[in-house]
Amino acid sequence: MVFVNSRAVADRVPANSSADLDAERDVELVLAFLNTSDAETGTDVLDSAEQWRAWSAGRGLGEAGDRGSARRVREAMRTAVSCDRSAPRPDPDLITWPVPVVLQDGVPVLGGQDALGRVLAAAVHLVHTGHWNRIKICPAEDCLWAFYDRSRNKSRTWCSMRVCGNREKARSWRERHATAE
Ligand SMILES: [Zn+2]
Repeated sequence: MVFVNSRAVADRVPANSSADLDAERDVELVLAFLNTSDAETGTDVLDSAEQWRAWSAGRGLGEAGDRGSARRVREAMRTAVSCDRSAPRPDPDLITWPVPVVLQDGVPVLGGQDALGRVLAAAVHLVHTGHWNRIKICPAEDCLWAFYDRSRNKSRTWCSMRVCGNREKARSWRERHATAE
């Protein structure tokens, strides 16, 4: 489908240094986690323990971690980065999940004990390196895809202007046109 391809291309990043590559990996992991729920296909990896385990193992993240917690973390993070301010807010309880600090050759780094922990460690890196506020959710109702905004002034709203942006423009034009008549 043209759709999926253009989205995938839009999400690809040119990396040019090892720090960029690390950030790149974190971005990729966090996006993949946020996109375990896919509005376009109506599928959700977290609907089954088996799929969640397979997703974690397939990415080399080790043990999956509690699925209920993964869902709460995912929904909270998706809401936090949503472009749609009217999106329903999940319960305001504090969500906690252990992400230990480990010393790698004496340097403290976050080390996830399981897939959820690794995703959270990656997300913390993104917050600390200023990449987090470029993670966004496409507001098109049938898309809701998480993407990384690479525009210079962080102005991107749609996952892909060519697909969702144009679809949305066409839709609002049709709606305006319909009400005008
Ligand atoms: Zn979209």
